[in-house]
Amino acid sequence: MPAVAWFLVSLVVAGSPPSVAQSSPARSADVQAVAPGVWWLPGRFERERQPDGNSLILQGPQGIVIVDSGRHAEHTQALLDWVRASGQPLRAVVNSHWHLDHLGGNAMLRAAAPAMRAYAAPAVRDAVRRRMPESAIDLERMKADPQIDEATRRMVEIDLALYARREALEPDVLIEGPAQDLTLAGRPLRVGVAFGVSGGDLWLFDPASGTLAVGDFVTLPVPFFDTACPERWRASLSELASMPFERVVPGHGPIMNRAEFDRYRAAYDRLLACAGSARAASECSDGWLADLGPMLPAGGERGAQGMLKYYLEERLRAEPARTAADCAAS
Ligand SMILES: [Zn+2]
Repeated sequence: MPAVAWFLVSLVVAGSPPSVAQSSPARSADVQAVAPGVWWLPGRFERERQPDGNSLILQGPQGIVIVDSGRHAEHTQALLDWVRASGQPLRAVVNSHWHLDHLGGNAMLRAAAPAMRAYAAPAVRDAVRRRMPESAIDLERMKADPQIDEATRRMVEIDLALYARREALEPDVLIEGPAQDLTLAGRPLRVGVAFGVSGGDLWLFDPASGTLAVGDFVTLPVPFFDTACPERWRASLSELASMPFERVVPGHGPIMNRAEFDRYRAAYDRLLACAGSARAASECSDGWLADLGPMLPAGGERGAQGMLKYYLEERLRAEPARTAADCAAS
């Protein structure tokens, strides 16, 4: 299966993890306070549904900044409802990367706040212009397959609807080069691009609260290797570890303190080492579960094992040419 259908393929093959006590759609009431002027909306990852990434909300003297806009309309609407209730204007969205669970909501945000500016790495613009049209062809083919089950058809249709609005997903301002200070809505922030997940991934640090948003460099229940360059990813985790953060907002999963981030990073290193060894895939995924221990969402073990088996067999071990291509692209 070509890289363009990315996450959907791993979900269909490996099965998404069971939902964890989350069955009603995201609401603005799900937005939780993190620190003064900082909130987050946890992204959901439920059975027979693609994920929404976590969204971070920052308040500046001139309005609101959102980091990552979700995929499903319910997630993005919850953000918009929260912004409306705050009485502040939405000034900016920053996208960690081009995967639709972090970028797809931009079209809705833009429609609701036409003066908003979108900030992202060049890989986002390139994906909107090149990867998405190719992926749309791929998804149309999946949709036309009479064998397709209803849940997969629904997932395909949601992504196709986002691709149809892809011009609204393009960034207005590209972030590239060395890490830089960037003031958004009057709030001083620091942003930079690191590599390994999707061809150029943006991190954002809020010095006032010590909050570091890292997109999909950190994800639970497992790292999503669909478009990854695993070795560069490992190097980026070490770069992120050197930053003076108090907490990390991952792309998926709960907010982590420094000890939890370090534990995730060590587990990632051991997973890669295991993938490069002759050990059985089941041994590598058992090692991952043991390394993460209580950090894994309750009931998420089976889903995590299924996804890791898929990634080990189809990505980390079986497709060196594809990984080499993703590494070259990043
Ligand atoms: Zn994601």
